[in-house]
Amino acid sequence: IMYGCNNFCTYCIVPYVRGRERSRNQHDIVNEINNMVGQGVKEVTLLGQNVNSYGKDLDSDIDFSDLLVMLENIEGLERIRFMTSHPRDFSDKLISTLSGSKKVCEHIHLPVQSGSSTILKHMNRGYDREDYLRLVHKIKGSIPAVSLTTDIIIGFPGENEKDFLDTMDLVRQVKFDGGFVFVYNKRSGTPAAKMSQQVPDEIKSKRIQELIAMQNEFTLESNEREVGKVHEVLVEGKSKSRDDRLSGRTRSNKLVMFDGDEDLTGKLVAVKITDFGLTHLGGELVFLSKDH
Ligand code: SF4
Repeated sequence: IMYGCNNFCTYCIVPYVRGRERSRNQHDIVNEINNMVGQGVKEVTLLGQNVNSYGKDLDSDIDFSDLLVMLENIEGLERIRFMTSHPRDFSDKLISTLSGSKKVCEHIHLPVQSGSSTILKHMNRGYDREDYLRLVHKIKGSIPAVSLTTDIIIGFPGENEKDFLDTMDLVRQVKFDGGFVFVYNKRSGTPAAKMSQQVPDEIKSKRIQELIAMQNEFTLESNEREVGKVHEVLVEGKSKSRDDRLSGRTRSNKLVMFDGDEDLTGKLVAVKITDFGLTHLGGELVFLSKDH
């Protein structure tokens, strides 16, 4: 739904290679999705480097929430996802739109990148740890079923032990349902590549292992909480890792594997969760949903 980015995080090359934010016309997006739904599509993912700032560059007075409301009205469209969200631009209006929506799935990928306000400032993220925690509190308060995932960079230049512990503490407070943790790598042409105080590889490696171990515990806890619940799953086909099973995703974006006929591919079904692991849930087909 949009291209480019205006944010200039100091570690990122995107604004230099993809240029400034350009939003697609809302009517073109609605028409495209209408056509897709006519061909049987049930779920769409709205993509942009920072979807929350959708519309800011358009002449019309439309924002991302307004676009979601327009898409909500497309008959036959069952699920709407979006990524990626920038915490700085996640407005109260958007939270209220999400909490009132039937079609936007209860999953928000909200990259925090660091739990240290000092490092966030050096990253030029435009928020500090308190802003982020306040935002998470508001989102969880308004959308109780929400699943939150994040991205974190370990070993950004200048990251000391206290900064790292702040990140560990933030992850402990939020208890993300899933997280992608990366080691900072220099990107030539970015301001961070020229910063002094680059963190030695062995420290980065120790920190990332600690953080991944803790996040894995929270991911497992989050998956364990699903056991016994019935989830709507959009069937994607045979599982890539177990071709005797089907796989699909819950609205909360968790991968589920279960036994069933391959003809169910593309359909919405109900699956009772019976077991869990770090990367996926296991379940059994309960009944076939409305479109079967
Ligand atoms: Fe933009 Fe994301 Fe890159 Fe920051 S990290 S400059 S928000 S694309």
